[in-house]
Parts: sequence; C-alpha cells; structure tokens
Amino acid sequence: MAYIIHYDIGAVVILTVTLLIYTLKKKVRDKSSRLFSALLWCTLISTIFDIGATVCQNNPSAESGIMLYNTGYFLTHNAVPVLFLAYIEAVTNSFSGKSKIVKFLIFSPYILNALLVCINPFYTLYFYIDDAGVYHRSGFLYVAYIISAYFLFFAVFLVIKNIKNMSRSLSFPICAFIVVSVVSVALQAIFPTFLVECFGISVCLIIIMFTLQSQSDVIEQETSMLNKTMFARDFSAAFKEKERLSLLLIRIPDYKMVLDTFGSTVSGKLLSTFSQYIYKLVRFGEAYYLDDECFALVSKDDMEAPKRLYENLSARMEESWQIVGAQIYISTYMMEIHAPEDVSDYDSLDECVTQFKSHDFTTKRLLNGKDIHASNSQRRKEVERAIENSLGTDGFWVCYQPIFNVKEGKINSCEALVRLRDEKLGNVFPDEFIPIAERNGSIIDIGKFVFENACAFIKDKRAVELGIEFVHINLSVVQCMHPGLADELAKIMSDYGVKPEQICLEITETASAFTPHIMEKNIQEISEKGIIIALDDFGTGYSNMNNLLRFPFKFIKFDKNIVWNSFETTKGQIAFESAVAMINKLGLGAVAEGVENHEQEQKLIGYNCEYLQGYLFSKPVKKDEFFERVREINFNGVTP
Ligand code: C2E
Ligand code: CA
Ligand code: CA
Repeated sequence: MAYIIHYDIGAVVILTVTLLIYTLKKKVRDKSSRLFSALLWCTLISTIFDIGATVCQNNPSAESGIMLYNTGYFLTHNAVPVLFLAYIEAVTNSFSGKSKIVKFLIFSPYILNALLVCINPFYTLYFYIDDAGVYHRSGFLYVAYIISAYFLFFAVFLVIKNIKNMSRSLSFPICAFIVVSVVSVALQAIFPTFLVECFGISVCLIIIMFTLQSQSDVIEQETSMLNKTMFARDFSAAFKEKERLSLLLIRIPDYKMVLDTFGSTVSGKLLSTFSQYIYKLVRFGEAYYLDDECFALVSKDDMEAPKRLYENLSARMEESWQIVGAQIYISTYMMEIHAPEDVSDYDSLDECVTQFKSHDFTTKRLLNGKDIHASNSQRRKEVERAIENSLGTDGFWVCYQPIFNVKEGKINSCEALVRLRDEKLGNVFPDEFIPIAERNGSIIDIGKFVFENACAFIKDKRAVELGIEFVHINLSVVQCMHPGLADELAKIMSDYGVKPEQICLEITETASAFTPHIMEKNIQEISEKGIIIALDDFGTGYSNMNNLLRFPFKFIKFDKNIVWNSFETTKGQIAFESAVAMINKLGLGAVAEGVENHEQEQKLIGYNCEYLQGYLFSKPVKKDEFFERVREINFNGVTP
C-alpha cells in the first residue's frame, strides 16, 4: 500500500509559513497566544513524523524507523486536540475558578493515550509492523480515537456554550477547525493512504491566525475580557438587530489609590483577580473591559440581571481581596442600563459609558441609565442643535450673580454664568449643555462670547459706580488646553479696555489636576498677565494640596454641596472650618457657594469665610437686574 504524502508536505509548508508569520507578528504574550504557538509546533512536528513514517513505510526495509516515527507521530498528533481544547479554554476563559484537580482530571485522558503509545513497541496495542516490514493498525487504536474525540467534543461543547456571546471573528475559525478536523479524520479513516488530516488541521490553523490571532485585537490581556473595540462592534450589531439588552457598568474608583500605594504589579493583579471573580457571575462574552477600570456585564433578554449582579458584587465588596500578600478592600460604583428603554443606539450607550466614568458618585452606588440625562442621544443631538443655532444669536446670554465680601459688608464682585434658551427645548441648563459643548468643541465660541460679554459688563459705568471690582468667569478645561488662550483673552481685554485685575478666571479642581503642558503654560501666562485666577468647586474632585498650591490662585471656591454638608454633619463642619482656616492663613480668599438663607450666612461668617455667593443675595440675573440688586445691597443698605 503506497501512502500519498503530498498533503503532508503541503501541511509542512503551510505550518512553517504560519509559524514564521506568527512568531514575527507583534502580539500580546498571554496564555492563549502561547497555546496557539504550541498548537502550531505540535501539528508541525506530528506532520514531520508522519512524513518520516510514510517514507519508511514506502520503503519496508526501515522497520525501526517506522516504529520510531509512528510513535512520535501518535504522541504529538494525539496532543493536538488536547492543545486545541486548552486553547479554546483560554480564549473563552471557561475553566476560570475551577480547581487545579478538576483541570487535571479534564486533561488526564491524554496521559493514558501517551502511556499506550509509549508501551506500544512492546505490546503493539496501537499498531504493529509485520514480518514483511509493513505497518498495521491494532485493535486498541480506537482508544486513541475516543480520547481525541473526547477532547474535540469538549472543545465543541465550550464553543456551543459560549457561541451566543462569541463575536463572529472568534467563532468562525474555531467552528471551521472543528468541522475540517472531523472531515479530514473521517476521510483519512476511509482512505488510509490519503494523509489529509495534518493538511486539514494546518489550513484551519492558518485561518485562525489570520482571523482571530491577533488576540490582542479582541481580548484585553490583564482581564481576559473582550475589549472596547469588541464592545463597539457587538453593540452596534445588537442595536441594529433591535435586541433587548441589560447592562451593568462597574467602576473601581479605588484603583488609582491601589496603583499609587502598592504599585503596578499589585494593581494589575487586582484587576485580573477582580475579573476572575466576575467570571464566576457571568460567562465569557458577557463581560467587556472598557479601560479606566471600567467593566460592562451584559445580559440578553434578562432585564433583572443587573440588579442581581449588583447584589452579588456589593456583597463581595464587603470582603477583602488577597493580592500578593496584601489584603485590599476596594469599592465599586455601578450603573444599570436597559436597552432600548435607556439607550437606543451605540452612540448613546457610548455617551453613557463616558458619563459613567466621570460621574461623581456622592450618594448613590447604583445609578440608573435614566439618571444621566445626556445619555439620551436624541436629547444630546437636540442640545447640540440648540447650541449651534443659538451661537451668535440672543439664544445665549450671560447672567451675573453677586459675591458678597464679608469684611467690607458689600458686594464687590460677581460670577458670569451663561444661559441658553431654545425655541423647542426651552431653557437648557449649563450643567447639561456645557459638557456637550466641551465634547463637540463649541465651548471655545461660547467661552469667547461669555468673556466678551463680561468685559463689556465690567466696563459698564454702573459697575464702577457700585464698586464691582472684578468679574469671575468660568474657564472650561477645553479652553485651558486651547493654544494661544492667554493672548486671545488679552486681545479681547485690550479691545474693551479692561484691566487684568478686573477679571478672575475660575478653573475647576478637576481641570486643575490635569497635567498637559499646554494647560500649565496657558494658566501661567494668564496669571503672569495679572489676571486673577480662582480654584472652583474645591472639595469635589481629587482634592489635594498640590492642586491648591500648583497655580497662584487668589480665591478658593467651595462647591455648594461641601458648604451644605458643613451645616449637616459635625465632621463636615470641622473639615470645612479647617479648610477655610488654612486658606485664610495662606492669604487666599475662601468663597462659599450656595448660601440660601441667613442662618447659613451667619454660620459661614462664624467659620471666617470671607466671601459668600448664593440665592440669599441674588440668583444669577441679567445685567440690569444685577445692578438694581447690588444698588439695594451696597447703597441703600437693604441687606438680604
Ligand atoms: P459653578 O461655576 O459652580 O456655578 C455655580 C452654580 O451654582 C450656578 O449654576 C449657580 O446658579 C448655582 N448657584 C449659585 N448660588 C446658588 C444657591 O444658593 N443655591 C443653589 N441651589 N444653586 C446656586 P448654573 O448657573 O446652573 O451653572 C452650573 C455650572 O455650569 C457652573 O457651576 C459652571 O461649572 C458651568 N458654567 C456656567 N456658566 C459657564 C460658562 O460661562 N463657562 C463655563 N465653562 N462653564 C459655565
Ligand atoms: Ca464657577
Ligand atoms: Ca463652583
């Protein structure tokens, strides 16, 4: 019987090329990529053994060669389905959380297979060579087939279990591998002289490499979860299919602290341990890692799933995490989203994720998608349209809110606050439209409009007459990163004849914590020109001394929530009073926002807070009304 080895030679060529490309290819060296390499090597070696054995068989004098090559062939060839199962496991993360013993038991049939191959030269259970030097299969060979089939079917089982959640790029080559190997094994069994098995497998491996490996394109290494690109691809498709989905977004706000305190090894391990825990709650394909320590768990058709997952995770968060000898407690912020109720397309989901990542969770630990108003992409588009239509029209205008100087007992400054009114939407509040304007860049034009308006305001003779010395203007982080900002502002000021000390630019604490060089340069230039700068919303972001001391701030403004908190709890009061004392000692001015009544005013004066702003004095109002109000307070002694 002459064996045809052309297919095997073809397989060697394909496998060598695949191995070369795969080795040279840039990739993440994770478990699945190592297993894929092993799969390629194993198939290549087994094909070479097959060729060796065939050459010997076609030349019956080399009896020992037939024995040796066939033994090598069976050892390596039988390892291919084992490695394939291990590879599928790594890709789908199916055995995470299973004990080592269970994993060993799953893979142990190969040991029996290898043992039977090793003792074959003595007991000829798998094959034998007759006196004429011709190779024959023995009765026990079906054991090898059963064991290989077991591994293959196990892999099929894992694929079927995960197929609903697998992206196409994962499932197609894997299914092709299974189909082609079964067909080629069957072909070779029927026509034993056509050695097509290795060829079939090698074709599948090259398909897997080109379509699925780069693993790094789809799976995030540290968490073994599908990455952001897959999230975008899968959800764009799901929205097109009008599928009902529920999602739970999870964020670990303490991650930065862990990174700073314990270093990157521990924080990396924390992420992977946390991910392993998540895989106890959901299956592979139901969890995505969206960067910035943010995860998304998805369930199809089960609208109650996020609540259940939230309960489970919350309970787990009560306990510590054992990471490389350290016991770490972390907390999580979560948000549930339902589609199509909360989000109806991928853009609005993406918006939701962005908002979730930066959302300030002061009270609630579980947010609902509805809580984030801009998450509604329809609404966002409407607001974008309103902004665009209103620029350059009277849809935008600026209101002014007085700031009371306690020592002088009068109003001597104010804050400019922008307003937007749209025919269709009515009044749109800055908390909603400013973030949208920041994202689409129109904040630059809005900022310029407010700045010009404030310059005209401070030059109004009533401002001079009433003792309004300067005006506070909010500066968005996007403006702070705009090249040439200082010169642009200086130009407007000179056009209006405004002196630098008549302007105070407010920079939020979150913005001031950013580090890009351009921002640093802009703020330094602004203050070198003599423009006053203030730190806004102090106490709401990552408050630290560096932020406070980083730039030459003249005023530190406390967010109204911090102020209100000081009235509610003793701790809040102590923190607030001490911060004010420190600010006073540094020679800076402390400004309390949100002063709504006399009781609050008196308390704040008692805490030595120098400046007060709030509805008690006036809501933000148009220029004319503002001057009226200030006249009553400053001149007519009508104290609020
Ligand atoms: P902010 O800079 O912290 O402004 C203070 C906000 O608190 C204003 O809300 C003001 O109306 C409100 N407020 C003042 N006193 C009281 C009070 O006694 N009680 C209560 N409940 N609220 C009070 P507004 O005008 O809605 O502005 C919200 C935010 O929008 C501002 O927060 C600021 O971050 C942003 N913003 C407003 N105008 C501009 C602007 O021209 N440019 C930029 N970049 N941001 C702006
Ligand atoms: Ca402000
Ligand atoms: Ca503020």
